[in-house]
Amino acid sequence: MKALQLTHPRSFVPVDVAMPELGSAPEGRLVVKTGSVSICGSDIPSFTGSRQPQGFPLPPGAPIHECAGTVVETTSSLLSPGDSWSPSPTTTRDSPSTSPRWRHGR
Ligand SMILES: [Zn+2]
Repeated sequence: MKALQLTHPRSFVPVDVAMPELGSAPEGRLVVKTGSVSICGSDIPSFTGSRQPQGFPLPPGAPIHECAGTVVETTSSLLSPGDSWSPSPTTTRDSPSTSPRWRHGR
């Protein structure tokens, strides 16, 4: 699958990465096909390269944390494949099933 990787300041490049698999992941995990992303204010230092120390390239997907997409696979009892989804940076990363803010598009 394709992912965006910040290879040097202000330059995202599409790269091939392995498709994530949930396997026996705990409740509440998702695989989401990304539809859109944004660069928020907290991403700007990484995006411009002003955050020190920081080396390039960043891991694929970093520093993006605001995005929207479609659930492909999930272990959540609250979501199903095909649901629209967007994370809320104010909720905990490990508990999408416990926060209604993680639920969109139903
Ligand atoms: Zn943000």
